[in-house]
Amino acid sequence: MIPSHTRPSRVVVDLAAVEHNVKEEIKRIDDSKDLFAVVKANGYGHGAVEVGKTAIKAGAKGLCVSNLDEALELRRANIVVPIIVLSYVSLDYVELAIANDITLTATNLDWIKGLDDQLTRPLKVHLKIDSGMGRVGLNNLDEMKLANEILKRNELIDFEGLFTHFAKADSLDTTYVSLQKERFEEAIAIFGPDIKYIHASNSALALWHDAWCSNLVRFGVAMYGMNPSGTEVDEPFELKQALTLETEITHIKELEKGEKVGYGATYETTEKEWIATLPIGYADGLIRKYQGYEVLVDGKKVPIVGRICMDQCMIRLTEKMPVGTKVTIFGKNGELFNSVQSGAEYVETINYEVTCDLTDRLPRVYL
Ligand code: PLP
Repeated sequence: MIPSHTRPSRVVVDLAAVEHNVKEEIKRIDDSKDLFAVVKANGYGHGAVEVGKTAIKAGAKGLCVSNLDEALELRRANIVVPIIVLSYVSLDYVELAIANDITLTATNLDWIKGLDDQLTRPLKVHLKIDSGMGRVGLNNLDEMKLANEILKRNELIDFEGLFTHFAKADSLDTTYVSLQKERFEEAIAIFGPDIKYIHASNSALALWHDAWCSNLVRFGVAMYGMNPSGTEVDEPFELKQALTLETEITHIKELEKGEKVGYGATYETTEKEWIATLPIGYADGLIRKYQGYEVLVDGKKVPIVGRICMDQCMIRLTEKMPVGTKVTIFGKNGELFNSVQSGAEYVETINYEVTCDLTDRLPRVYL
């Protein structure tokens, strides 16, 4: 999908907010820890290149992504800091990673054995330990011992990182965090503590568990100013939401009492009502579940009425407003502010998903 620049709907990203969130976290971690900014999934929908560059300017020492294409996009944008691909990359692409100085994650023993057979040039590798996420990584102590032998014997493997990922560090209940800590400590005992980077910390572990056992912090959702726990755990410092989603009224009409609005004719006016149309719909990521969510116009909350269409939706105003009036779906409008979290709660999901769901049709504009 190509961005539509001729339509007034857009994602506005406040890079000063990203800078603030990164700098505040760097202040909290001591000098022995490096912050790596997680910009996978196009920077959680905010734009990987712009956010990545801002994070580096704010002090991030490297970037993390989820696949090799995302890493290559950053290199093409002349970003030269270390980049770690956090998920599985087929051995077919190892040469491409080496040629672009990209660090890969070893996610299973067969991959490590395959690498041992095929490397002709040095590759930086971080090994993933599955301490309880059940996704990728080694979870068997015998496999870890064998991996340790191979990774340390092969001089073309620059074994520079050992890491794990916590499944429940965003909760007030720390029982599962404790179990994962125990398991990761067992793994560290096998590989030894002298690996350059040992890391376990996503935003939640950094914010609420002192980035336990990490000299590299993988800082993701909090960098965008969103609380990893939603609302369960309080933020230790003010996270500034970087994202605004805004559009403009493109059509306005006054409907008589009893008129219907939208597909399925599910909304019926209860009196004479001003109904405005917005050029944004579910193909932009404003899914149909947002029907009824209150957006901001002229410093006031107004509801989305009727079913959201693919490219448009309708809102009910209390008075006539001109075509071109700004409408804020997430972000600040007058004295009011709609957090991404409020949208996530409305459609029963997490803030991560809300921003990742905003599609490429919405241009990203940077402040
Ligand atoms: N590390 C890994 C392996 C991840 O998969 C993610 C994101 O899902 C992160 C770090 C960043 O997590 P967060 O956005 O919660 O900081």
